[in-house]
Amino acid sequence: MKHELPPLPYGYAALEPHVDARTMTLHHDMHHKAYVTSLNAALEKLPGLQNRSAVWLLRNPDKIPEALRSAVHNNAGGHLNHSLFWNAMSPDGGGAPGGLLGAAIKHDFGGFDKFKTEFETAGAKVFGSGWVWLARTRKDGGKLTICTTAGHDNPCMHGDYPLLLNDVWEHAYYLRHENRRPGYLQGWWAVANWKEAARRFDLSGRSAGKTWEEDVQAPATTG
Ligand code: MN
Repeated sequence: MKHELPPLPYGYAALEPHVDARTMTLHHDMHHKAYVTSLNAALEKLPGLQNRSAVWLLRNPDKIPEALRSAVHNNAGGHLNHSLFWNAMSPDGGGAPGGLLGAAIKHDFGGFDKFKTEFETAGAKVFGSGWVWLARTRKDGGKLTICTTAGHDNPCMHGDYPLLLNDVWEHAYYLRHENRRPGYLQGWWAVANWKEAARRFDLSGRSAGKTWEEDVQAPATTG
């Protein structure tokens, strides 16, 4: 089994004006594709790991030979995070989450606006390249948390379940927003896909058993 680049779930220009078509084209067709290509290249030397998902590879670094550990880790993370990221945005995005996720955000952050400010602040503070996440912890009765990761690390590495994420590598925003990462983060809410976040919130509650690891990956990109 080879890892495959999933198609974008919308057109390159669908998230204009906030995320421009040129950025989406480079980001998906060049950056994400390169992670998939490099991951497959590294796994060619590791036949025993070729059927493992990107989530499994991220969560089991000790099962990967040291010489290839960084290559597998970085590219599995790049593949997984971008697969999640395309679905974390939508041309029909924006607004505020309702239902159980909306209630959980209100309960755990003291309100939707407080949550948004905290998420933006965390994203703006990431030094260098990384990601900012809304995730559901495995402790505290599934409490929500905002966290950041460096490089292409993912909250699933320490057992948290990712619900929504934003890419704060410069390649995600520099063509349109130049050095103004805080402005990118503030405007990004217009394309945030709360429908997908709510679906993942529901999934995180139902998949507490042994299938949890594999369920982290969006169904469209599994296999
Ligand atoms: Mn990226």
